Amino acid sequence: MDNWKKMANNRKMIEHPAGFLIIVPDQYPDVVPTKCSVCGFLMKDFTDLAEHKRYECCYSCSIKWAQPNSISWKDGWRPPQKEIIKEVERRNCLPSFIYQVK
Ligand SMILES: [Zn+2]
Repeated sequence: MDNWKKMANNRKMIEHPAGFLIIVPDQYPDVVPTKCSVCGFLMKDFTDLAEHKRYECCYSCSIKWAQPNSISWKDGWRPPQKEIIKEVERRNCLPSFIYQVK
């Protein structure tokens, strides 16, 4: 069921049952996903967004796999799932912030 109405500038609109309008572009050419397609971690800052544009992954995956294998990466190569799981476990053990105890 597609009740979207076409608008100018390649946008489309639909009326929500609660009484408000939703207006979105017809296509999302530069949308960055919320999660990295390789490791599954959330995209969190500008470096992740920039690396997604270059390699379609987060900054950490770019440094770890995409940049050292940039030619095969562009051809579609991705690290084996076993290696990705090992890296995710390693990252999960890193402290996300440090307290200074006085
Ligand atoms: Zn990643």
